[in-house]
Amino acid sequence: MKRRFLLGLILTSMLGSILVGVGQAEGQTSGEPKKRPRYSIRAKYDDRTAKVTGDLSVKVPVTGEPMTRLYFHLYPNAFANWKWGKESKPEQPGYLKVKNIKADGAKVVQRVKETLMEVRLPEPVQPGHSVQVKMDYELKLPKGGTRLNQFKNTAFLAQWYPMLAVKDKEGWHTDPYTTTGDPFYSRISDFEVTFEVPEGYRLITTAGDYRDPVMKPVTLRQDRVRDFAAVISKDYEPVEGKAGEIQVNLWYLKGMEDVAQELHDAAVSGMEFFSKHFGPYPYNEVDVVLGETGYGIAGMEYPGLVTSVDKIPTRKGERPAVNVVAHELAHQWWYAVVGNNQVKEPWLDEGLTTFSEFLFMQEKMGEDERGLLVKAAERTDQIHKEKGITSVEPLYKYSDPIYGMMVYTRPAAMMWALMDELGKDKVMKLLSTYYSCYRFRTATTSDFIRVANEVAGKDLQPFFDRWLYFKPDPKSEKQKRAS
Ligand SMILES: [Zn+2]
Repeated sequence: MKRRFLLGLILTSMLGSILVGVGQAEGQTSGEPKKRPRYSIRAKYDDRTAKVTGDLSVKVPVTGEPMTRLYFHLYPNAFANWKWGKESKPEQPGYLKVKNIKADGAKVVQRVKETLMEVRLPEPVQPGHSVQVKMDYELKLPKGGTRLNQFKNTAFLAQWYPMLAVKDKEGWHTDPYTTTGDPFYSRISDFEVTFEVPEGYRLITTAGDYRDPVMKPVTLRQDRVRDFAAVISKDYEPVEGKAGEIQVNLWYLKGMEDVAQELHDAAVSGMEFFSKHFGPYPYNEVDVVLGETGYGIAGMEYPGLVTSVDKIPTRKGERPAVNVVAHELAHQWWYAVVGNNQVKEPWLDEGLTTFSEFLFMQEKMGEDERGLLVKAAERTDQIHKEKGITSVEPLYKYSDPIYGMMVYTRPAAMMWALMDELGKDKVMKLLSTYYSCYRFRTATTSDFIRVANEVAGKDLQPFFDRWLYFKPDPKSEKQKRAS
């Protein structure tokens, strides 16, 4: 995600003044998991009732220990009884109801509590086998919802189906929804989604798109993605092009014509830049969908599909949201392909993504934001002194304004400092090595540090301790004592 208040921070610094406001690998030790959950979803959209109805089947491979229960996230239920700030409260609520759940054909007991559903299996499923869970669902889209939303002639389907929770060595991850950060954690799966939409609607998805109105049910398939997002719309128009072999589509609404081409050029340039430095993008296509995605959010990432506002405000007026598009596209590398537990260690994708965005803005757009990062590092030192909080904490620990500084900006500053220490080539080598090692897997902070040590050929633990955990540098402590 890209946060709106960070935009203010960046822009102010560009104008010359300062604004200082306010894992576990998936049960595997090496290589990509061979067996992935396999979803098959049918989704019928009714624009008049703002409902999506259908059924979902997911085949879940069992590894480790016998499986006695499963958990699913029903994130749309966050919009049923809004518990968070008034400013982000949807105008009309939404929900996700599930019924007729079966496991391998047998009825099961389920328990739903807000955004979490527990499914108890009639009998344990042994490792090496799999269990097929089927259910019917009814999704009501909130109006004015964050990420998940119905807006004029468009439905944004984000975290919209019963999403299988992650089970790893730590057990099941059943963390609840919250409005700070992206409270989602999922693992690589295969998807087959059949959409049926009213007359005149087009489809933009994690898999392929339908540029012309969809007349009959259509089935889309995408293997090896963490999530499946879709935008069903009558209104979006595409700008199309290629970044090497990758199809790059930018979708805009009426009134955004003046920035569509420039943002498409930036998207192509970004995909080329990140592919060159970090490693190949593994999917055929990527979509950038312009428009609002919720309160406080400038953009959001999903596999193969990102959203971004079209323009960002500056004191000299609005300008195209090039850095937001770059940020969200960099998340394809840090979130979509290399996963991390975004609830437990949100810095790992947001920090690397913010660094990638800054690098792109400097090298491709000629905007040097180094000064901002230095200031952010100083400010976060002060925040740590006052509150004791570090950059490696679960997202529930951060208040909203501190979250951006600690989780986005300080780790980006850290990566820049690492370039001073090792040189740019070594840092690019670190990122490309990390990418190729953890492609389609879930990495942790210690995985990242291990790769960094290997690539650097020296122990960088004190460096990361200082930057991420605010531990004093043993070398400088020694010097202090000597003097
Ligand atoms: Zn982000």
